[in-house]
Amino acid sequence: MSDEANPFESLQAQIDEAAAYLDVGDDVIERLKHPERVLETNLTIERDDGDLERFTAFRSQFNGDRGPYKGGIRYHPGVSRDEVKALSGWMTYKTAIVDIPLGGGKGGIIIDPDEYSEAELERLTRAFAKELTPMIGEDRDVPAPDVNTGQREMNWIKDTYETIENTTEPGVITGKALDSGGSEGRVEATGRSTVIAAREAFDYLDKDLEGATVAVQGYGNAGWIAAKLIDEMGATVVAASDSSGGIYNPDGFDPVAAKDHKNETGSVVGFAGSEEEITNEDVLTLDVDLLIPAALENAVDADLAEDVKADVISEAANGPLTPAADEVLEDKDVFIIPDILANAGGVTVSYFEWVQNRQRFSWSEERVNEELEGVIVDAFDALVETYEEHDLDNPRTATYVVAIQRVADAFEEAGTWP
Ligand code: NAD
Repeated sequence: MSDEANPFESLQAQIDEAAAYLDVGDDVIERLKHPERVLETNLTIERDDGDLERFTAFRSQFNGDRGPYKGGIRYHPGVSRDEVKALSGWMTYKTAIVDIPLGGGKGGIIIDPDEYSEAELERLTRAFAKELTPMIGEDRDVPAPDVNTGQREMNWIKDTYETIENTTEPGVITGKALDSGGSEGRVEATGRSTVIAAREAFDYLDKDLEGATVAVQGYGNAGWIAAKLIDEMGATVVAASDSSGGIYNPDGFDPVAAKDHKNETGSVVGFAGSEEEITNEDVLTLDVDLLIPAALENAVDADLAEDVKADVISEAANGPLTPAADEVLEDKDVFIIPDILANAGGVTVSYFEWVQNRQRFSWSEERVNEELEGVIVDAFDALVETYEEHDLDNPRTATYVVAIQRVADAFEEAGTWP
């Protein structure tokens, strides 16, 4: 894409933009634009055929002023040091906007996991967990799943950490399977916050969600759950896409049936409820009331943004709009619920999982969803308050103003040492 941004530069641009409205010194802002530390490590594991292979892996601990570092681990060929740094920064401001007592971190391995067997992925995950062990822990840094990792990898990391440390510490990692100390409601949490935030935005904008049309780009964990829940709220999902292409039906389709089709065939493409097959780009530029980008970063650049026709965008993915696209959409008065709020359900329920692990007590799914609802509505209200107070043009800036102020306050209250 023409203006595909370096994600770390995108993060820093967003912080600079918000800094203009903050009562925080440039020296403190400078600190809040960089990670505290980044681990870069080379993991060499044995392939099933006996050969060795080396992989590069990262863990960035961006900021711990408000609590232990918190953030996922991603397995993807596009992982880079700058991407991990950026994602760890977004986690810092994400935990701050939803006001949970955690900081921000992120990790990743440069790998296409589809090319490896389960046994190879287990060896690689355990090798990474061994490297991470000195720097993680329920009071230090608490990893979680991200793209291409899930409960399976989290269980391996927990087991490796607990074996090395000779302890039981389920709160060292979140996103675990229920039997290993996971939380009810975690799998649905990201899609759920994406649609709670969208519902609040429609309400704020005096728009009717009932019958509103929705396009979802990316039909993985975040995207398909968002599609299912927004459909349950009365909206009509008309389009969806995954890496193989997109589907469209102007009258709407059943998001659960589309997911069943994807489970059977590997893609939403070919789903019987679709009227027309369209491209990924078409899904992003359809004339819909709500667009949910739920794939990867930089899905929409400035050129594509010119063609975006949605009124509201709820960012399930991290960083789906380039900064240049953001400007174009701001000029077009599109109401953008930024990733750090829209997809914060994942980290919020991760936080609930961590709380339950520490309490050695499990909450019901109903309680988890109820608490999540309160957290996201409060965060959206804080966004709106700042958006109006400063008469801002972009809800993203308002979100960063609230979040950065909270981190800066914690940093300044603690003082500097040494
Ligand atoms: P996932 O791997 O389950 O799904 C990703 C989906 O995107 C897949 O359906 C894939 O086919 C699709 N995709 C990839 N490239 C695409 C393209 N060019 N066009 C259209 N679709 C494409 O991942 P996920 O967990 O759903 O995460 C998606 C996004 O949400 C990521 O940005 C992730 O960081 C963010 N997120 C996820 C969580 C979570 O709890 N799962 C939490 C916060 C943020």
